[in-house]
Amino acid sequence: MKRRKHIVQEIINLTPETFILRLDRQDFQFEPGQYVVIRIPDIKKGREYSIFSATTDDYLDFLIREIPAGEFSRYLRHLTPGAELDVDGPKGYFILNEKTKQGHPTILIATGTGISPFYSYMKSYPNLNYRVIHGVRYANEAYGREDFNPEKYILCTSRSKEGNYFGRITKYLEENPVDPDTICYLCGNSEMIEEVTTVLEKYGLLPENIRTEVFF
Ligand SMILES: Cc1cc2nc3c(=O)[nH]c(=O)nc-3n(C[C@H](O)[C@H](O)[C@H](O)COP(=O)(O)OP(=O)(O)OC[C@H]3O[C@@H](n4cnc5c(N)ncnc54)[C@H](O)[C@@H]3O)c2cc1C
Repeated sequence: MKRRKHIVQEIINLTPETFILRLDRQDFQFEPGQYVVIRIPDIKKGREYSIFSATTDDYLDFLIREIPAGEFSRYLRHLTPGAELDVDGPKGYFILNEKTKQGHPTILIATGTGISPFYSYMKSYPNLNYRVIHGVRYANEAYGREDFNPEKYILCTSRSKEGNYFGRITKYLEENPVDPDTICYLCGNSEMIEEVTTVLEKYGLLPENIRTEVFF
């Protein structure tokens, strides 16, 4: 694992709150699902961000929600092309296991920007036997939706009826049982992860088949 300097290529605004930070890749190697710590040079402060782009892309993308009172995400959003950032990584073990890579039925469950590692999985491994369940407030937060196979993708919207299901992920899962032989990956806020884990355990999934990455 190394610390290195990367250059901002672009800030791509997706919604009033969310953007993609695109950095040059150089020869940075990672496995889909890993994250890095991005630091502002000369300041010790840094934050973790999952890699959104695929292993086949020649850039590094991060899908970031700007937190109004949060100092770091706000700083990143206002960077301009050419700015330099320190990147530590890759880090983390939220990578696909061999069974999933070989086609075992898998469900990817995310809230908000927690879709980031799943987008990288899907782009990097086009033949996965997956379903995605993405929970957002409004449909414009369905980041990357157009690139997922629509037959494998369920958008749960909690504040409008523009998704495939109106309500929270937990409610969707309570109404739509999961086969106990499924491998599930959960990413996003800790409340969703706790609630969904409880539902999945009730369906008989083994703890080792419930893999989690908590953003906050
Ligand atoms: C392993 C890991 C991977 C992460 N990957 C991503 C990522 O890909 N994209 C991303 O946007 N964030 C990601 N985060 C969160 C990120 O590290 C920062 O916490 C976030 O950008 C807020 O930093 P801040 O300084 O702006 O606000 P802070 O002052 O540090 O945070 C303020 C509050 O914002 C809330 N918050 C933090 N992150 C989010 C979020 N993503 N969506 C909604 N509310 C949030 C929390 O309640 C937090 O307490 C990840 C965190 C971890 C641990």
